[in-house]
Amino acid sequence: MIQVAKVVVDVPSKGTDRPFDYLVPEELIGEVQLGSRVEVPFGPRKILGYVVGISLSSSAQKLKNILDVKDILPPLTQELLQLGQAMAEEYFCHTITAFQSMIPAVLKGKYQKKIHLGSKAIPFDGAAEGLQQLLEKKSSCSYEEAEQLVGRAVLRKLIQNQSVLVEEHVGDRVTKERISWVRLIDQVDIRMIPARAKKQHEVMQYLLNDLKEIPLPTLLAATGANRQTVKALEERGMVRIEEREQYRDPYRNASFVPSVPLALTEEQQKAYETITKPIKEEHYETILLHGVTGSGKTEIYLQSIEEVLNKEKEAIVLVPEISLTPQMVDRFKGRFGDKVAVLHSRLSAGERYDEWRKIRRGEVQVAIGARSAIFAPFTNLGLIIIDEEHESSYKQEESPRYHAREIARWRAQFHQAAVVLGSATPSLESYFHARTNVYSWVTLQERVQGRPFPTIKTVDMREELKSGNRTMFSKDLTTSIQETISRGEQVVLFLNRRGYATFVLCRSCGEVANCEHCDIALTYHHTNRTVRCHYCGYTENVPTSCPNCQSEHIRHFGTGTQKVEEELGKHFPGIRVIRMDMDTTSKKGSHERLLRSFGEGEADILLGTQMIAKGLDFPKVTLVGVIAADSMLHLPDFRSVERTYQLLTQVSGRAGRHEQPGKVIIQTYQEDHYSIQMVANHESETFYRKELLLRKQHHYPPFCGLFTITISHTDRVLAMKRAVEIANLLKGNNGYEVLGPVAPSVSKIKDRYRIQVMVKYTHDFEVIREIQSKWRTIEEWPKDKELRIQIDRDGEIG
Ligand code: ADP
Ligand code: ZN
Ligand code: ZN
Repeated sequence: MIQVAKVVVDVPSKGTDRPFDYLVPEELIGEVQLGSRVEVPFGPRKILGYVVGISLSSSAQKLKNILDVKDILPPLTQELLQLGQAMAEEYFCHTITAFQSMIPAVLKGKYQKKIHLGSKAIPFDGAAEGLQQLLEKKSSCSYEEAEQLVGRAVLRKLIQNQSVLVEEHVGDRVTKERISWVRLIDQVDIRMIPARAKKQHEVMQYLLNDLKEIPLPTLLAATGANRQTVKALEERGMVRIEEREQYRDPYRNASFVPSVPLALTEEQQKAYETITKPIKEEHYETILLHGVTGSGKTEIYLQSIEEVLNKEKEAIVLVPEISLTPQMVDRFKGRFGDKVAVLHSRLSAGERYDEWRKIRRGEVQVAIGARSAIFAPFTNLGLIIIDEEHESSYKQEESPRYHAREIARWRAQFHQAAVVLGSATPSLESYFHARTNVYSWVTLQERVQGRPFPTIKTVDMREELKSGNRTMFSKDLTTSIQETISRGEQVVLFLNRRGYATFVLCRSCGEVANCEHCDIALTYHHTNRTVRCHYCGYTENVPTSCPNCQSEHIRHFGTGTQKVEEELGKHFPGIRVIRMDMDTTSKKGSHERLLRSFGEGEADILLGTQMIAKGLDFPKVTLVGVIAADSMLHLPDFRSVERTYQLLTQVSGRAGRHEQPGKVIIQTYQEDHYSIQMVANHESETFYRKELLLRKQHHYPPFCGLFTITISHTDRVLAMKRAVEIANLLKGNNGYEVLGPVAPSVSKIKDRYRIQVMVKYTHDFEVIREIQSKWRTIEEWPKDKELRIQIDRDGEIG
């Protein structure tokens, strides 16, 4: 019998985006499974690929052999294989790119296997003795070396009966972590140990009284024995020392306060019932949980997950990266303990790999993480929760350009599971789907225990200026800060990062210091007196004279967090400020540390950017100040008003979440803008209706889908030429509208000129297929190394 595997290889290009047939050699039959990572010859190279199909014959002539299987348990489940293929279709990406986005980074790197000696009790037979001798001398050898010594079949057998251990070196440096365990041999007679070996007796007593097996370091610490003592016991046949794998657990030394389900309020109960209905009945349903901040959404998540666990199913909880705070993790670990795996980018690669493996091996039932955790390889999903579903970070901005919400719906349909989209400020899309009954809709309008909403006040900064106040703090905000702090309470100050970076400007000629490689102003960094490009990382010292007119009247403008911090110091002497932005949170663990110390009252003010806008729950925070609300209202993006509304509402929600009532002061240069007014008046319904109407009038999502095609080239003329060709190719169909070519707001990045073409389409299957087929034509254009074309799809799939 022959076995043929269909393999998608790790060569992301058009010609290779299909499975290739390989022969499964006899000794690998059974090990090569659907979803396995395999090593295959491809032209002159050896590369990785994923098995997407297995059959008994092939139409291809002269098949090459699969060289190796990389994992014992395939990293991709059959569901994820199907999902990857669907993503390739829907997002116009290569199948391999979709697969690679689903697995931990370390599995994508170079991969080596090393052989170690296993437990000695299983004797090597004749053929393998050479290997045993080698390993006793050298402690490890490469897989290839071992294979040459004993042959492939024998080596596989030795691995199976654990005579040798395979250690995986993935991503060059990340390996599995191992630790020695001591295991008592059954029915040993302790009298076989000479009486004078006191320590050995002690260790044996400890093992007999207590556990039958224990990690070696723990045993040594508990008994005060040393390694030699235990070794001696091993030689007497009393115990066995074994190497076992140990997960790197970022929370190993953390303790979590156990929590029990709270009695739900009436509103919460209704939401809980709506969510658990599809879970109990095991059918697909998406539910928008539209609940004001502090209405107890998280408690509902926790109790719904309980129901999922009762059904012996699994749950994924997505939260935005920046709100994946220790507070959030505490709540899930506190309720579900070891059943929870946590995935986020602040873990080391090894930690993330180990958390992922717990999921793949079925050792945990709940995964909580940022965007990519949507691919958690569970096989029996009952529920997917997306908290703060309106967050833009759920959209991946590189290929595959997916939205986690869409992947969630796809997976939930596959598993007949429920999707919960939770938010105090839903995306306009989800709101629209809820209104039109595509989603179920539950609202929570009250804060838990009747806690009042904060009072929100807007301050017109133009008026402040007229009355002679030139500082960045209005009179109102200044007094409120003073009062709050004198009561021993805390303040959160929010500064929008986007649109408010500090730039360097010449006062004589008006020249702004721009990046040499990008069409964007350089940002001033106070700490090391440099200017930096946030697109390409280009850095230089702050110029002392203008590069254009040589004038020395050059200085930085704008309001960065560093600037605000400086001003706070001048304004409120002695005040204690914690600043949270990209600079202060770049080190691992610093994010957690800063929040913890604010929570413990080590500062009066928490000053920060987007990363403090959501999820935080500090009882003593009773004042929230927004330094400038309108800094992103005018970004050239049809979502900028929606984003402003969401952000301001979220920030406001940080105030007065506990006993003391809260107050919010929003400073703005556009007091009369409807989005700001409606935040202040808590008019959420009115806002959504108005904004939907505007989207409908101007023909934007959710009333249409949108493709944005970005063409970039090192040559400006060629970029434009190609863009015109693309626009012309796409034009001429009544089902959709082609806009452009236009230059985007940032028209050059890393020395590449950018041009965009947009396609607005109605939700019509046929139109999408047509655009796809035209896209294929574009992909077949003659090769131009400098030309890059990206396509981004905004809107629902399927
Ligand atoms: P949200 O996620 O909607 O912002 P949370 O779930 O964080 O709200 O709840 C806000 C606060 O109210 C938390 O401190 C939470 O422990 C508490 N809480 C939630 N539900 C209840 C309840 N049913 N009874 C008492 N306290 C509750
Ligand atoms: Zn100048
Ligand atoms: Zn740059």
